Amino acid sequence: MWTALAILSLACTAAIYFWSRRQIKALELSLDRLKHESAHQREQQQHALAEEHAQQQALFNSMVEGVLVLDSDGKVRLVNHAVERLFSLHNDIRGQTIMEAFRMHALQEIVNRAAIEGQMTGGELELPGMELRCLHVNVVSLLNREGRHGGMLLVFHDLTRLRQLENTRREFVANVSHELRTPLSLIKGYVETLIDGAKDDPAVALRFLQTIEKHADRLTFLIEDLLTISRLESGQIVLSVQPTELTPLVDHVLEDLSARATEKGITLRNTIPQETKVRADGDRLEQVLFNLIDNAIKYGKQDGVVEVSGRVNDDNLMEVSVHDDGPGIPEDARERVFERFYRVDRARSRDAGGTGLGLSIVKHIVQSHGGEVWIESEPGKGSTFFFTLPRE
Ligand code: ADP
Repeated sequence: MWTALAILSLACTAAIYFWSRRQIKALELSLDRLKHESAHQREQQQHALAEEHAQQQALFNSMVEGVLVLDSDGKVRLVNHAVERLFSLHNDIRGQTIMEAFRMHALQEIVNRAAIEGQMTGGELELPGMELRCLHVNVVSLLNREGRHGGMLLVFHDLTRLRQLENTRREFVANVSHELRTPLSLIKGYVETLIDGAKDDPAVALRFLQTIEKHADRLTFLIEDLLTISRLESGQIVLSVQPTELTPLVDHVLEDLSARATEKGITLRNTIPQETKVRADGDRLEQVLFNLIDNAIKYGKQDGVVEVSGRVNDDNLMEVSVHDDGPGIPEDARERVFERFYRVDRARSRDAGGTGLGLSIVKHIVQSHGGEVWIESEPGKGSTFFFTLPRE
């Protein structure tokens, strides 16, 4: 009996032993699986985190606005590429203070003000350098989780282009007002003198009336040129580009200007090869030729020659040139004469009835045909204006 009991208990113990071994094994296996799964999950999480971080970094660096974060000690913690570009920074400024990084008292003052006032503060900065740059900065104080001062966020906007446009507009309005006021006040002066008695002398009256007419014409030309520029710039003039023969077009302009040339004893020549065709808007091209030939006569020397020529250049474009033997254009003015109202010799241009807009119209039209315009000149010996157009 005891033996049977002993065998039974032994069998039970063995069964329990084997059962628990199996259980332990199963437990070990599921623990292993769990460990493996959590390592995999951790890896995936790290991967997702790194991807998110890279995306945020790319977003941060692709922003047009410059963004900079200061820590609670006033040291640069984060800075994006736009800040480096705006301030032309060549080294890493992280860990530096505002003064160390930028050496700008004005910026430091704005940051100090934001820290004291505890709200968003803004201001404008002018960056010294070869080209004046203008920035607007917004500074906001950051709070940490405990609600205490946790640093500053600075956002920079580049206002340079906007300021340049504002200046151009202001200059343009000032120039236009000046150009309109000058002939008007002259006209008024002559009219007053006529009323005061000059009208009683027929010879004087005629001379004054002719001068009044000249200034009235100048006003008309100025307004016409202003309207052309405004239409060109606003895109109201749509080019109708077609195969256009150059020779008859040049002949037509020369004919229109022949009386002016004769007055100055100037000989006009057209040496453009026959049957030269370009792709252009005929009316606009006529305006380009008119302005250039008119200038060549205006500034060309008495009894001189004005010649219009053409050739196919190395880029297979038609290169048209207008040559005169006038005073020439100094090198530093050769780009500037295409600016609105720029004149080499103000008095001379006014006397000749110039508006100061002719060449800027030329440049606009040539460029809208895909061409280029430039000057070659030897001061004292004359100027040649060149422009290119696509060939038909
Ligand atoms: P303007 O109506 O004053 O002639 P433009 O825009 O046609 O205005 O020309 C700008 C300036 O360029 C002129 O005022 C003149 O000083 C200079 N210029 C233009 N064409 C010639 C030329 N052929 N020879 C010398 N100077 C020229």
